Amino acid sequence: MSQHDLLMRHKAVMPKWLSLFYNEPISIVSGDGRYVVDADGNRYLDFFGGILTTMTGYSVPEVVDAIVDQAKKMIHTSTLYLIEPMIELAERIAKLSNIDDAKVFFTTSGSEANDAALLFATAFRSSNQILAVRNSYHGRSFSSLAVTANPGYAATNLSPFQVFYILGGSRIRGPLAGLSDSEYIKRGVADLEDLLSTATSGQVAALIAEPIQGVGGFSLAPDGYFGAIKEVLDRHGILYISDEVQTGWGRTGENFWGYESHGVAPDLITFAKGLGNGLAMAGIVGRSEVIDAIPGTSISTFGGTPLVARGALANLEYLLSNDLQANSAKVGAHMITRFLNETKAIDTVADVRGKGLMIGIELCEAGSVVPSPAIASLVLEEAKSRGLLVGKGGIAGNVLRIAPPLSITLEEADHGIDALVEAIAAASKSL
Ligand code: PMP
Repeated sequence: MSQHDLLMRHKAVMPKWLSLFYNEPISIVSGDGRYVVDADGNRYLDFFGGILTTMTGYSVPEVVDAIVDQAKKMIHTSTLYLIEPMIELAERIAKLSNIDDAKVFFTTSGSEANDAALLFATAFRSSNQILAVRNSYHGRSFSSLAVTANPGYAATNLSPFQVFYILGGSRIRGPLAGLSDSEYIKRGVADLEDLLSTATSGQVAALIAEPIQGVGGFSLAPDGYFGAIKEVLDRHGILYISDEVQTGWGRTGENFWGYESHGVAPDLITFAKGLGNGLAMAGIVGRSEVIDAIPGTSISTFGGTPLVARGALANLEYLLSNDLQANSAKVGAHMITRFLNETKAIDTVADVRGKGLMIGIELCEAGSVVPSPAIASLVLEEAKSRGLLVGKGGIAGNVLRIAPPLSITLEEADHGIDALVEAIAAASKSL
C-alpha cells in the first residue's frame, strides 16, 4: 500500500477537519530512540515527538517490556476494583506535584483532563465563569474548546461557560508587543483587575492557563507573570488550573512543571502527552478538597487501566532515573543558542524563543512581524526532504515548533539544527 493510496483512503473515511502535515503526508510505521521510519523506508530525526508525546524516546526497552508484561497478564479492569499500578502512579504524581494533600484522577486525553478540571473547579466555586488566556489551546472537547482562544480551532461558538480572556500570548505583536518583562506583567495584572470588576459577577471559578502556549506557537509570558496574576486571583478566591499537557515532566528544562518559573502554586494541574510516551494516559492532580467537590459518584472505564499505568510508571521511572529534565535543560540551551546565532541573518525569522526542549521559531514576511504561514509550510517540506520532522503552530500557523524527545543527544540535536537552518534558508529564498 503506497502512502498516496493511504491518503486517499484517509480522505474518504476521516473527517475533513482532521489536519495532516505535508503536501504528501507520511505514514510512520516504526521508531527507535529519536528516529522514525515511514512506510517507504525513509528515516527521519523527529523534532516533534508525536506532538510532544514521545517523551523518553521510541521503543525504550524498559517501557516496552513493562507494557508487554502487563498485556500478557491483563489489559483492562475498571475503576470499580483496586488497580495497584494506578494507585502507585497516583502516589508518585501527587508527590511530584508539590501540592499538599493532593489527589489524582486519570483520564485518556488532555481534553478530557481539562474537562474534568473545569468540572471540579466550577463545582467547587458554584460558578460557570472561567478565565482563560488569549492565544490558548486546551483541547477539542466541548468544554476544553470553550476555553480555547484560537480562531482556527473554533469548532463551536456554543459554550458551557461564560469565558473571559486575560492578556497573554505573542510578544511581537498585539497589546503586549515590545513591552519589558515588568511592563508586560503590570499591564496584564491591570487588565485582569479591570476585567474582574467590569465584566464578571465577581464569583469566577478558575483561571486555566498554559505556562508556555503549545498550539499557540510556544509563546511565553515573562517568568513571574502567572504569579502576579495569581495574587489577584487569590484575593477573589479564584482557582488556578495549570495546563501542563505540553510543559510538564521536565520539558522546559529549568523546572519539572512549567508553572514553577512563575513562582505560583496551582490548585489543579492537568497532564497528558509525555507521561504515557504515547499510551492514552492523562489526568489531573490537585488539591483534594477541589477534586472531591463534585457530588455523586463516578467511574472511569479507561482512565488509569493496568496497561497504561504500568507503561506510564516505567516511562516516569526512566525519565527520573536518567534525569532527562537535566538533559532537556542542557540540550535545549544549546539548541536555542545555535538557532539564535544561525538564523540572525535570515530576515524571515522574526523570533526565536523557548525553554528547554520547547523551542519556537516564528516566521514572518521579510523584515516584519507579519506572519508567513507559507514559509512555515515550505520549511516543513524542506526539513522533511532533509530527513527531519518538525511541528508548526501559532494562530496563523507560522511558528516552527521544535520539541524532540527529552532523551535527545547533543549530536542528534546538532544534526537536526544543521538540517533545519538549511531548510529555513532554502524556504525563505524560494518565496
Ligand atoms: N492542552 C494542551 C496545552 C494541549 O497542547 C493539548 C493538545 N495539543 C490539549 C490540552 C489536548 O490534549 P489531547 O489532544 O490529548 O486531548
